[in-house]
Amino acid sequence: MPWICTTPSLRFLKALPTALFALSLAAVLAAGALPTHAHGQTHAASAADGEAGGNVGVHEDLTCAYCGGPIVGPYVTALGKTWHPEHFVCTHCRRPFSENTFYEKDGLPYCHACYFELFSPRCAVCGEPIRSTYLQNVWGDLYCAGHEDEFERCYSCGRLICDRLTRGGVEYDDGRWMCNLCRRTAVDDADDAREVLEDVRRTLGRLGLGLGDVEIPLRLVDKAELDRIEGDACDPNGNTVTCVLRREGRVIDRVVEEIEILHGLPREHFATIAAHECGHAWLFLERFPDLPPLVEEGICELFAHLWLEQQHTREAVRRMRMMENNEDPVYGEGLRTALRSLDVYSVPALLAYVRLNADFPPGF
Ligand SMILES: [Zn+2]
Ligand SMILES: [Zn+2]
Ligand SMILES: [Zn+2]
Ligand SMILES: [Zn+2]
Ligand SMILES: [Zn+2]
Repeated sequence: MPWICTTPSLRFLKALPTALFALSLAAVLAAGALPTHAHGQTHAASAADGEAGGNVGVHEDLTCAYCGGPIVGPYVTALGKTWHPEHFVCTHCRRPFSENTFYEKDGLPYCHACYFELFSPRCAVCGEPIRSTYLQNVWGDLYCAGHEDEFERCYSCGRLICDRLTRGGVEYDDGRWMCNLCRRTAVDDADDAREVLEDVRRTLGRLGLGLGDVEIPLRLVDKAELDRIEGDACDPNGNTVTCVLRREGRVIDRVVEEIEILHGLPREHFATIAAHECGHAWLFLERFPDLPPLVEEGICELFAHLWLEQQHTREAVRRMRMMENNEDPVYGEGLRTALRSLDVYSVPALLAYVRLNADFPPGF
């Protein structure tokens, strides 16, 4: 179950939303400055009729966009409107613009500070308005791109581990970091783990994918041990150990010896791995032929996906999206192929096809 692989690929590098970005480029000028830029100009008014020596006049066709009053004397054109110079100021704080720069929003000018304070999304990590490039994680949190290198990443959910976003987190002995959101439901002891596995088995049983009364021991392992377990059947977060007993060359029994799952995963993630491993156990006990990894792991990911579908939680929906978008050529592509074939096949029909052909149906 390559959760950790899926997470980075699902973060999107983003510039600020188009509106903000465009505005920062368009920000130029200020009242009082000479007319140098198309976005805002000051004008010396022409003399009004009959006013001796005056270089200040009344432009009866010009009114101030802020106060609505007639413009007499110099004025500013900006944002397609005209303004009294003293009225072309920040819409929010009413202060003049510093460094001849303003930002536009809905046709109104704002100073740098007010613009970001009012309109920029808040960074989920530092709480400040986002002022430049930002990222979005699969949970929908936006944060300044610069934080990427400042914090550890949660092994399970992929969030950056920090006070504001995850209320901190812990490092396990095997080097995995777990955020405190995930820690809330972490499965740390064998009794809890067995209970989750039983629950998963019951749910899969209701879907016609049960393992019957077969006793399957479950053991919690750490990352180091799982990494030591070599072999094709080893998933990143769990493993199913099977054994075919033979006598005189004849198969006399097939035994699922053990399911091993990483300790300390949040309950829903743990259960998702358990469902995946139950898939391996099910394929084995149902005497499926040897399947190519894409098909085997794709079917097992489908077991996990079907379990998640039954949960109806926001987290479960996110996990399903993470699995569906997993870039792994075996786990991700296998699941996507299985899901596409379900547009045409029922789950039992798909499994029957795979059993017979050791492959997914063609055309998906
Ligand atoms: Zn005015
Ligand atoms: Zn302001
Ligand atoms: Zn930030
Ligand atoms: Zn987490
Ligand atoms: Zn697997």
